Amino acid sequence: MWVVVHVYVGLAIAALVKEPVWLVAVLALGSHVPLDLIPHWDYTVSRHPIAWGWVDFVAGCATLLVCLLVLGMPWWLVAMGPLSGAPDFDVLMAAIRGGEARHWFPSHWDRFPHGKAGPLLGVGVQVAVVALCIVAILAGRPY
Ligand SMILES: [Zn+2]
Repeated sequence: MWVVVHVYVGLAIAALVKEPVWLVAVLALGSHVPLDLIPHWDYTVSRHPIAWGWVDFVAGCATLLVCLLVLGMPWWLVAMGPLSGAPDFDVLMAAIRGGEARHWFPSHWDRFPHGKAGPLLGVGVQVAVVALCIVAILAGRPY
C-alpha cells in the first residue's frame, strides 16, 4: 500500500492503543504485513511513479503535521505513523529518484503474496482504509 496509508494505520493504532509504547510500536510495524496482503494498487507500476511518489511523501508529511500541530497528538504517538510506513521507505525513495528499490522487508519479497488490484479498486480500498483510520483517530482522542 501507499506509505501514507500505512502512516494512517500507524496513527490509528496509536490513537486506540496509546500504551505501552512498545506494544503500540510492535502493532504499528506489524500492521504493515497484513495491509500488504490486501489487494491494492501501487504507483510503482504506474507510468508516473516519481510524481505519485511525491504525492505520497507530501501527503504523509502533511498528515503528520496535522496530527502534531492541529490535533496536538503527543509526538511519540505521531511517530507510530512513520514507523508503520518505514518498511516502504526504500520503495518510496526509489520511486522519487526514478529507480528500483532493494526489498528488505518480508512483505515486499517476491515470494510474498503481495495484494494487487487495478487502479480503481486498488485506490478505493486504500481510501476506505484511510477513512476508517480517520474515524479511529478521532474516536481514540489521543490529544
Ligand atoms: Zn509495504
